[in-house]
Amino acid sequence: MVTVKKVQRRNLQTQSYIPSLLKGLGFTFSKMIKNLFNQDKMPTLNYPEEKYDYSPRFKGNHVLTVKKDGALRCTACMLCATNCPADCINIVASEHTDPAVEKFPIHYEIDVLRCVYCGFCEEACPVDAIRMGPEWQTAGVNGSVFNYDIKELAHRPGLKGGAVSRVDDLERHKAGI
Ligand code: SF4
Ligand code: SF4
Repeated sequence: MVTVKKVQRRNLQTQSYIPSLLKGLGFTFSKMIKNLFNQDKMPTLNYPEEKYDYSPRFKGNHVLTVKKDGALRCTACMLCATNCPADCINIVASEHTDPAVEKFPIHYEIDVLRCVYCGFCEEACPVDAIRMGPEWQTAGVNGSVFNYDIKELAHRPGLKGGAVSRVDDLERHKAGI
């Protein structure tokens, strides 16, 4: 098989970057003027004053749901941590004083900087204890604020006191879910 190489001869235009630079600046400037006088037609949003409305199915920051009495729904079964492809869920389980509750997490932490927001944890949970919420603006000044603990996952101010799961245990059992 014969390989043919295309040789590009150098000329004044390719030797100097000035014409390309001016061409690029001209293009940017023309777009800026066009957008300035047609702001309604701009395909971008003026963030943070304007925000995009994502679908209700959007998978944003995690939420640990709570029962009607305010206790975590999580039974510390580890299914979410086992299914997490990023290995970013860390749970420490403990026995509960209530004999009706087998186990509960005394420590539940998600390193959201490692999370790939795949939703496998939400899918794996058998008791609807973890959900991916609508929040997506995750800013912070250092790495530690991205380790979400129980307080952040279940009771952060953005959740307005905690995300109560749709139905209580008895209602779930009656409904067969
Ligand atoms: S969304 Fe995916 S990567 Fe993130 S914690 Fe859940 S399972 Fe792990
Ligand atoms: S969040 Fe769900 S899957 Fe994860 S440990 Fe708790 S009960 Fe199990």
